[in-house]
Parts: sequence; structure tokens; C-alpha cells
Amino acid sequence: MRSTPPVTSNARRCGADTRAGRPCRCKPEPGKTRCRNHGGCSTGPKTPEGKARSAQNRRAKSIPD
Ligand SMILES: [Zn+2]
Repeated sequence: MRSTPPVTSNARRCGADTRAGRPCRCKPEPGKTRCRNHGGCSTGPKTPEGKARSAQNRRAKSIPD
């Protein structure tokens, strides 16, 4: 007989503090260390290309055709 451990036993945990003061037990987003509730907002484009693209997007949206 072998017991099957819960799928989550070995998985990483978000670990952020919840509003109840307990560690969050959500699964982190792939490639990240926090779940989607605790990952916070994007901090914006990092590369010059990304910044330029972001600026263009903003301009394009503000100009009515
Ligand atoms: Zn979390």
C-alpha cells in the first residue's frame, strides 16, 4: 500500500501574508514567487524597446482619429 501525497505537498507556496495574518497557501504563478493575488502590479516596461512601445501605445490612445 502506498499513500499518495497531496499534489500540493511539494509545491512552492506564495507565502505572502493574508489579511488574516496567515501565510497565503495559493500556488504561485508560473515562474514567479507569489500567487496572482499577491504578485502586485506590473512595474512597467524594462527595456528601451518596451518603453518606447509603451509610450507609443499611450500616444496612440490619446489621439482621436
Ligand atoms: Zn498569495
